[in-house]
Amino acid sequence: MLRRFRLEEPESVDETSDLLARYGESAKIYAGGTELLLAMKEGLVHYERLVNIKKIRSLDQITTENGFIHIGALSTHRKLVESSLLRERLPALVGMESDIANIRVREVGTLGGNLCFAEPHADPGTLLLVLGARLFAAKRSSNREIPVEQFFVDAYETCLEPDEILTGVRVPLPPRPSGVAYLKFGYLERPSVGVAVRVTLDQTRESIVEARVAVGCAGPVPRRVEEAERLRQPVLL
Ligand SMILES: Cc1cc2nc3c(=O)[nH]c(=O)nc-3n(C[C@H](O)[C@H](O)[C@H](O)COP(=O)(O)OP(=O)(O)OC[C@H]3O[C@@H](n4cnc5c(N)ncnc54)[C@H](O)[C@@H]3O)c2cc1C
Repeated sequence: MLRRFRLEEPESVDETSDLLARYGESAKIYAGGTELLLAMKEGLVHYERLVNIKKIRSLDQITTENGFIHIGALSTHRKLVESSLLRERLPALVGMESDIANIRVREVGTLGGNLCFAEPHADPGTLLLVLGARLFAAKRSSNREIPVEQFFVDAYETCLEPDEILTGVRVPLPPRPSGVAYLKFGYLERPSVGVAVRVTLDQTRESIVEARVAVGCAGPVPRRVEEAERLRQPVLL
């Protein structure tokens, strides 16, 4: 059962950061709530204050500029699946997102919440690794950019500071010609193993110039598999 808590509803990143700094460990960011409320209902964690960031409308935008796609941290999985921009420019991300959880979780669960919870059995981090994504974190006095490989520290642990907010994810559009794929296997609700690959060919399309491979769910954090990346061979298509 859920114990009583106070709900704070900031309307800006600065206000959120101030609340987190003021209330310390007794407060926690609340986005879609699909992980947090479950953990609170189970009695695994308790916070006196939940800081609902969904009123910060600027954090749910999906835009493109100068060869990058920027995804606001509050974008729900459903919004990502339905984005015509992503369908056209990053279909592998849409495919991965459309297979997350179920429609109820996709409706309210956010990309930011998925990454910040750092549950090892999750999909997006693995794909973002091969895409070379960078994450944006902010607090009142500063903004910083974090390569996705530095974001996950351990199971359920990220490099975010207690008063920092993940504001978005920037994904470079894959070079051409290249292909990106994500496959997962699972027999429970969440994935048991996920594998992401990005392969870039030379202009003749005869040789692989770069291969990136990442595996998720097989350890506390998703990771690139350099041993597999080095196995690339010239190919004839
Ligand atoms: C039944 C079920 C099945 C699932 N299946 C899958 C699956 O197949 N694949 C998969 O990848 N995931 C799966 N998930 C996980 C799902 O993707 C996440 O629950 C969801 O994306 C979390 O987002 P949220 O907005 O609800 O996070 P919340 O529950 O609101 O927050 C989660 C955590 O992140 C923190 N947080 C949230 N947003 C921010 C932010 N912007 N900055 C800093 N901290 C933040 C919160 O403080 C909290 O600690 C599943 C979940 C459920 C319940």
